[in-house]
Amino acid sequence: MFKQVKMWQVQCDRCGRGCIDDYMGIVAWTDKDSAEQVALDSEWRKIDGKLYCPDCYEIDDDTDEYRPKPPIR
Ligand SMILES: [Zn+2]
Repeated sequence: MFKQVKMWQVQCDRCGRGCIDDYMGIVAWTDKDSAEQVALDSEWRKIDGKLYCPDCYEIDDDTDEYRPKPPIR
């Protein structure tokens, strides 16, 4: 039989790309914390409560802190 289940995937707050585990072939997790942990272990960054993929943040030269790149138009 089949049963629909709810899963979680981190998506970039700037470009919308989903964070998947290419190596393991995992695209979603059963809880948000695990999804977030995998993202943070894969060079994603949490900035002001939002999650950004490696393409969407940069280092602020003045503060040496990560900041999101300007929004995509
Ligand atoms: Zn992104």
